[in-house]
Amino acid sequence: MLFSELGLGPDVLRAIEDKGYTQPTPIQEQAIPCVLQRRDVLGCAQTGTGKTASFTLPMIDILASGRARARMPRSLILEPTRELAAQVAESFEIYGKYHKLSMALLIGGETFTEQVKKLDRGVDVLIATPGRLIDLFERGNIMLNDIKVFVIDEADRMLDMGFIPDIERIVSKLPKNRQTLFFSATMPPEIRRLADAFLTEPLEISVAPPASPAETVTQAMVVVHEMDKRKALRHLLQTEDVKNAFIFCNRKRDIAVLQKSLERHGFNAGALHGDMVQSKRTETLERFKQGEITLLVCSDVAARGIDVQGLSHVFNFDVPLTPDDYVHRIGRTGRAGKQGRAFMLATPDDTKLVNAITRLIKREIPMIAIDGLETAELSEEESASRSRGRGGRGNKSEPRGRGGRDAAREERAPREERAPREERAARDERAPREDRQPREERVARDERTVREDRQPRESLAAAEARRNNDPRRDRERDRRRRRDEDEDDVPVIGFGDHMPAFMLRSARPRRASDTAGDAAQEG
Ligand code: AMP
Repeated sequence: MLFSELGLGPDVLRAIEDKGYTQPTPIQEQAIPCVLQRRDVLGCAQTGTGKTASFTLPMIDILASGRARARMPRSLILEPTRELAAQVAESFEIYGKYHKLSMALLIGGETFTEQVKKLDRGVDVLIATPGRLIDLFERGNIMLNDIKVFVIDEADRMLDMGFIPDIERIVSKLPKNRQTLFFSATMPPEIRRLADAFLTEPLEISVAPPASPAETVTQAMVVVHEMDKRKALRHLLQTEDVKNAFIFCNRKRDIAVLQKSLERHGFNAGALHGDMVQSKRTETLERFKQGEITLLVCSDVAARGIDVQGLSHVFNFDVPLTPDDYVHRIGRTGRAGKQGRAFMLATPDDTKLVNAITRLIKREIPMIAIDGLETAELSEEESASRSRGRGGRGNKSEPRGRGGRDAAREERAPREERAPREERAARDERAPREDRQPREERVARDERTVREDRQPRESLAAAEARRNNDPRRDRERDRRRRRDEDEDDVPVIGFGDHMPAFMLRSARPRRASDTAGDAAQEG
């Protein structure tokens, strides 16, 4: 089939031709005519299938007639992360270059002033992350009752990030007679329920993932002891023909440490994660895309769904906490028919996580050894993993046979899904009051909490105690002590060389007036 058979206008077709696309992808073939007929669409498709163009191309044609009024955008696209929002905005610029549509990108981490000015001038296309949109709505900068086309992209990702209550609030402000296009990589029951609530007689489209990473990505795994991971990574970086690579860590604080370590060893490395200010995130990603940075040490939140053409390698410095994340991580390489290579560094404590991955991808990941490094072994019995105990997940003994998303969902605090709908709605109404800090902080916090902080404190303590009693941990400690290694890899104990200033300050003797003050406060 040709693009010209889908009913798109000549200007859009010209932009597609300029972009060099010769044929629509399956989702474009099915979705575009249907969107042009103003029907709702429920698309089960992930990034890499061409889904962005499947909604942006027809939207450009639909919005070509008509004019936007101040503060009343005519279409709204919700994206879970700032990077994805920026990527969609880029697509609009490319495909809409022969149109005069105005577009605003509302994402956290950037100043309100410019965004508000744009809204005041009137926008045809509004692309936003849920948090910033609600903020601007609450400030009265935006009205949503003229939205004609509404897109929810990456709905399952929104669920993972705890954005569903925000989305329900946003939808409640939209006009009933809108067109809704709803996309999700997977369709768990919660997402299906949302789709049923938001869509009217949608056309359901389900397309296969681009190509299973198993076919285009050569995978390998190195099992080493925890303290050898950086050395193992450096060895791989030196011996592999790495053009550019994502290096995934599970925890944000490890990202900075690893990036600095790589820089010290002469590698050209940057960092990307959800706690960084947006300007820095955008700049780093751009520098990576331009090839100024070769290695990007990153978190799942920062890198999922990001389309970097021709990524040669992915390194899992940590075994991902859910098997789904493994597939998403390695799927950053080997895209668009190109070959990619993915390596994972595992430690004996990661056995359970590794097994969950191999169950999901239905194949073993070939193990390789690294010259000069002692190869460790995955433990026979599925122990609780290091990552889960240290900061990742709850304390469940159930294997995660049903795949990461289901398991992850269960382990998250039952923030939105378990409460009945009415209760959630009531709580949503309360939300603005309890969240008095600026919205973007809340969003940043939401992004931060996605992976790391959702388990109850007791489980952390229990996991810590369990690990302290683990004989393998003692052996690991001894080995660490004995090791003659490069300084960079020595774990810092206590404050290391740094003595915090507060410990050097002499304690002020407590005066009678302090006691009187305390008493007055208590009274
Ligand atoms: P998406 O799934 O929207 O993230 O798109 C993935 C990649 O496919 C992007 O780099 C698009 O530029 C590219 N793409 C989208 N549609 C087509 C097409 N019809 N032909 C070739 N490439 C495409």
